[in-house]
This record gives sequence, C-alpha cells and structure tokens, in this order.
Amino acid sequence: MMSYPNEAMSLVALQYSQEQIKIQREQVRSRLLRDAPYARQPNFTTIAAPDLLLLFRLYDQVFFAGRLAPLVIEKSGKPLQFRVSRAMTSAGGKTIWSKRNGKTTGFEIAISSSLLLNSFREGDRPIHVSGQPCIDRVDALMRVMEHEIVHLLEMLTFGNSSCSQTRFMTIANRLFGHTHPRHGLVTARENAHRKHSIRVGQRVSFTFQGKEFTGIVNRISLRATVLVPDKSGIRYSDGKRYIKFLMPLARLRPIAEAPVE
Ligand SMILES: [Zn+2]
Repeated sequence: MMSYPNEAMSLVALQYSQEQIKIQREQVRSRLLRDAPYARQPNFTTIAAPDLLLLFRLYDQVFFAGRLAPLVIEKSGKPLQFRVSRAMTSAGGKTIWSKRNGKTTGFEIAISSSLLLNSFREGDRPIHVSGQPCIDRVDALMRVMEHEIVHLLEMLTFGNSSCSQTRFMTIANRLFGHTHPRHGLVTARENAHRKHSIRVGQRVSFTFQGKEFTGIVNRISLRATVLVPDKSGIRYSDGKRYIKFLMPLARLRPIAEAPVE
C-alpha cells in the first residue's frame, strides 16, 4: 500500500531504446494476434472490450513488468475498465478518471472503433499515429493504447494529465518513441467528405417523411446535424431560426454552390 506514488514515479521514469521498443512491440503484437477474442487479424473488422483488456495486459507485462495494473487498483479500488466506442468520431482514445466527493472511483480507457475501422481501407492514404507511420489497424490500435497508457500513468503519478504538455510528450517519447500527440486516423468528418462529399457548412437537400428540405450541415459525427431555416425553429447565434435534423450521411445530397467572389 505504501508503494504509491513512488512506484508510479518509477514507471514514469522508464526509458527504452528504439530497438527495445521495436522488439517489445513485436511481442505485444504477436501475442495479441494469437490470443485476441476478436481483433485477431492485422486489419480486424470487429473489436470489443476483451481485446482491449488483453492488449493492456500485454503492454503491462512487456513494458512495465506487470506493475501498472496493481497501481490502478491501489489508487481506485478497482481494476481498469475498458470500452470500445463507436460514437467517438474524432478522438482515437480517451482515458477517463472518475471521482466522487474528491475520491477516485475508477479509471477507464475507451478506444474508438469507428476511427480504426474507417482507416486502412483499400486505396487509403497513409496513416500516422503519435508521429509514427502505421501499417494496419492493429498497429494503429497499439499506438492509441500506448497514448492512453501515458495518460493513465500521468494521472496515477501526478493526479492530472494533458497530452498538449511537454511532460506528457517526454514520457511518451521515452517509453514508446512517440514524437507527436495526435492521431491521423480517418475521422467521421474526413470520411463524410471523401465518401459523401459532405463538409460542415455545406448546403444539402434531403427527403424526410416524404417532404423535401434544404439546410446547412452544422456538425458531423456518425450522422450529420442539418439545420433547416424555419420560423418556428430555435434561434441560433446567427440570429436566425432553424429546425435541427439528425440525418444519415448517405441520405444527404450536397448542393453545388457558385464560388463567392
Ligand atoms: Zn491525449
């Protein structure tokens, strides 16, 4: 019980050479592909929480000698939780720290399946995650998990974490060779543009319950939010009133507009 936070501090201070990182990653990868319940192919088409649990355990064994998982239990009273999220359409992963009355009640790592499954399709552009080129979905998943592990380590050690800070990048670089805090996975926005030629701000028309509407795309996630001007709608920041529609991208027809001179 007395090992926190010095135990966490010693994990944060770990440093691996490029060669060690390569060898250790290969161990994680080959065991994941051998034992994962769903994510068993380099470009898997299904992924679930048990895959994330296994992946985390492999990282813990190979990079931290199994010392990371016990720290989470020590700090929060329960094991790290995992979640695969289809609704996360711009972040590749998230590490969530829940607290109640100032007391830590748990840690969770969520990974976006939509981003991973939208990336590495045939004819896709090259994908970089954390500043490194990725060859397939397993590779990208591993980079995202590494990024979230650094968030977790920072939370356990310092009680806060931010990947836009130098401290985060120093740790991520020493442990995993990361050079950049961002992922370049195909987001819902990019996918909407490439597959449906739809962007935020785009004028579109669509049919809803047999009626024809014209509006402006306001937001893109798994579906698009379209604002249609209407006197009975809600007033928006531009002073006009709109009715909001949540539409599947495939049902929107982009309206070509003449360039504004
Ligand atoms: Zn981050």
